[in-house]
Amino acid sequence: MKRVCHDCGRAKEESAFLAGKAKRLSRVCAPCRKSRQKRHIKSFYRGLSTDERHRITQRRRAQHYGAAHQPYSRTEIFARWGHRCGYGCNASAEHLDHITPLSRGGADAEANMIPACAACNLSKGALTLAEWALRDFPPPF
Ligand SMILES: [Zn+2]
Ligand SMILES: [Zn+2]
Repeated sequence: MKRVCHDCGRAKEESAFLAGKAKRLSRVCAPCRKSRQKRHIKSFYRGLSTDERHRITQRRRAQHYGAAHQPYSRTEIFARWGHRCGYGCNASAEHLDHITPLSRGGADAEANMIPACAACNLSKGALTLAEWALRDFPPPF
């Protein structure tokens, strides 16, 4: 038994139309269902403000690392630092960085957040502040 996909118009075997765990027949084939889902997620993200978008991605990252998460406002933190890189280089900040990286046990919380320029953010990477300082500014003795 072939079935015509409602989205791409191709005739495919019925097995390509079984959706979800319940295996019910869907009007669109599996690849089209996937791209429908993607479009849905994208338009959902587009509708969010920068703060909300940031909150969602950060919460997911924090969960991934098992880090503590407290809601904070990206906009407020940027404003407090005058949109400058908090690592003292005086460039304009583009990223909100975790001072102690999530992967190193840092919390996803306001006290651990600092605006950073792309260069500082990249240079620091997953180092702690102390490790970064030691690498780039080793003590002279
Ligand atoms: Zn299709
Ligand atoms: Zn910087």
